Amino acid sequence: MLPSLGKTESEIPIAERVARVRARIAAACARAGRDPDAVRLVAVSKTHPPESVAAAAAAGLTIFGENKVQEAAAKIPLCPGHLEWHLVGHLQSNKVRHAVRLFQTIHSVDSADLLERLDRIAEEEGRRLRALFEVNVSGESSKFGLKPEQLTAVLSAAGACRRIEPVGLMTIPPASEDPERARGFFRALRELRDRARAESGFELPELSMGMSQDFEIAIEEGATYVRVGTDIFGPRPRPAPAEEMP
Ligand SMILES: *Cc1c(COP(=O)(O)O)cnc(C)c1O
Repeated sequence: MLPSLGKTESEIPIAERVARVRARIAAACARAGRDPDAVRLVAVSKTHPPESVAAAAAAGLTIFGENKVQEAAAKIPLCPGHLEWHLVGHLQSNKVRHAVRLFQTIHSVDSADLLERLDRIAEEEGRRLRALFEVNVSGESSKFGLKPEQLTAVLSAAGACRRIEPVGLMTIPPASEDPERARGFFRALRELRDRARAESGFELPELSMGMSQDFEIAIEEGATYVRVGTDIFGPRPRPAPAEEMP
């Protein structure tokens, strides 16, 4: 291809995309007066092959996120061995044992039952995991996540856990064309964390919020994990027509 034609979005090498995302994180931290080391990038590799993970790892990324246990189980063994894997999608109770074996951190704990099951199975498997609680701060009915008022009960269940360490909160704001519309939801998650910290005695240092479209705003509002897929790996293939059927 002639250089003057430029490259389409999906032809940009992953290393270059990683560098751009890092520069945007650094700029957002500078605007917010935050230490860039306080924001960790979770590269969400769902639908992308192990080769793409290896390319992102070669560019220096170490934390990768998947949203489906089954896909992760097939992919992780084919990826470089030194990586840290986070589950960012909904966890069904029948997949907990697989999840405990595959992931170091779960961003999507959304009930006391799930938390207790994770703790019991982590004990059986001889593992320790970190957990973030997913909170539906927007109240959208289509979303997974705890209602804000359910958090207190789940944190008191966390007090009895021996293998699961509660480290923070996660949210996914409503999809919107305008990333600024997410700001209020990110702020609400931080304020909820501040109240939960005072009430529960858990430090809850982590706020997992912000995706490709809105991670800079999330950083301005206090994110410690940003979960970025598209801006690192390129557009995801659309599901095959059969998978789109209800
Ligand atoms: C897919 C996904 C992301 C990444 O989304 P992009 O818009 O591609 O950056 C982040 N978080 C969760 C929970 C996801 O499922």
